[in-house]
Amino acid sequence: MILEVRKYGDPVLRKKGAPVEKITAEIRQFIADLIETMHANHGVGLAAQQVGRALQVTVLDVREVKDRPSTLERDGQPADVDQFMPLVLINPQIQPHGQTVAAAEGCLSFPEIYGEIPRPEFVEVTALNETGRTIEFRAGGLLARAIQHEVDHLNGILFIDRMSAERKRELQSELDTLQAQTKAALRKK
Ligand code: ZN
Repeated sequence: MILEVRKYGDPVLRKKGAPVEKITAEIRQFIADLIETMHANHGVGLAAQQVGRALQVTVLDVREVKDRPSTLERDGQPADVDQFMPLVLINPQIQPHGQTVAAAEGCLSFPEIYGEIPRPEFVEVTALNETGRTIEFRAGGLLARAIQHEVDHLNGILFIDRMSAERKRELQSELDTLQAQTKAALRKK
């Protein structure tokens, strides 16, 4: 089922996700819905908060992006990124490292809004997958950036929080408009 993507101004986007205690049938269905919603919106990642649930669950899929490469290492060996997608991360712990690199980012909760965001180039990840198994890997490139963006969502952090003050000033009126539209729509519910 395709779920409604929550936009900037919805208070759920600022909530820290609760850890998943048990991967129930309901959680597995929720994960399937997250993946379906991400694909329907051509997103690279989607966090539970973005569909209205403050939970430590995010999904990613970088296969559609051909011009921004990703790297993956499992057990210290290079691994195939495409075969690892879609990627489900439950209760993820990440350790970013490497040089900080700035690159353009967007977010499904901020339609048509983009900004250069500085982030470390690599990330070490430990998480549970949809079957409850612990997965550990190292990612680089777009995948590392997307994972950091999604794990921020799980902690109530948004990409605008990491933009330069100058870029945020440029976007301020668009952000204010989006926030006001979202709040007005929520009041009507
Ligand atoms: Zn986002």
